[in-house]
Amino acid sequence: MTRTDVTAGDTAPAAPAQRGVPTTEAWLRTPSAAPGVLRVRPLANEATASYVQRLATAYQLTLPQLLDGAGITLTGHGTLPTAELQLSPAACHHLAALTRTPLPHLARALPRLAASDDAHHTAAAARWKRLEAEQQPVRACTLCTRHRSHDATDTAWVHPAPHRLVCPCHHQAAPDPRLTATVRTWAAPELAAAHHAHQRLLRHPRAATAWTTARAITTRWYDHQQHLTHRWHTRLARLCAANPHLTTTGSASPALLTRDLVIYPETVALARALATLPNRPHRDTGKALNLIAHRLGLPHLASNATDPLRVFLTHTHHRPATPHSEAPTERSRL
Ligand SMILES: [Zn+2]
Repeated sequence: MTRTDVTAGDTAPAAPAQRGVPTTEAWLRTPSAAPGVLRVRPLANEATASYVQRLATAYQLTLPQLLDGAGITLTGHGTLPTAELQLSPAACHHLAALTRTPLPHLARALPRLAASDDAHHTAAAARWKRLEAEQQPVRACTLCTRHRSHDATDTAWVHPAPHRLVCPCHHQAAPDPRLTATVRTWAAPELAAAHHAHQRLLRHPRAATAWTTARAITTRWYDHQQHLTHRWHTRLARLCAANPHLTTTGSASPALLTRDLVIYPETVALARALATLPNRPHRDTGKALNLIAHRLGLPHLASNATDPLRVFLTHTHHRPATPHSEAPTERSRL
């Protein structure tokens, strides 16, 4: 990597306001080591450790060297995505000074950066913390990352919102933290189409609850091989053919690693149908099932009494006070 790989700051190098003035050998060895001279912006919802690592890469340092140079004491060991860096409030201020980014801006982009302004006096410290599987970040789109890193790296880890599962520009997705490479989705163009449909769903006031419900239902259908098995197997096969790494990644099966991605178009379609379903207490469950089958492109939904969708529809109609029974809203545009 050369010095031109990153954008130089638009003003002269500024020393951090606090005691984060770099004095270590690592910094002195690096020609571009003046703090704040390199601008590396965080990705949306980036893991703290991912951002610090990208920053270190831009300065041609290791992560411990960068923290040391910023006056932050690092304890423990860890790697992404199974561990996250936790920064003390003082360390957050040091990071903000180093990156010349106001701390509130940094905290907005890095959701796990817990900072509070009233604790200037504690030590600037960072420690690695192990993460449970469901808390682990996933790989960000390599091309978005490369762009944001000024070509210094294509590796970043993020906690994407559900509607950011697929990068519609570069056709990549990372549905599971165990995937060390992203899944290329060119082979399944309906995934990008679902991304755009998902953005339209967000305009609906019931989008969040409809999404949670729909995802629980399609996940269960997938795991129990119901209704859409053939379509999902076909999509999975196409994704595997285009992504050989899926079949060689560790112990987990491709079917499990890609589940959220394989069911994504139908989850979005079901969420949109549920969000726009009129909330009439006496509505016929069979009629609602027919409507949803149509939206999913199925001739019918032959569901038994324990089918999660049928249970949901029956349940909500008998209990108009559930969170899914807000006042009826107009059904247009969805
Ligand atoms: Zn991208």
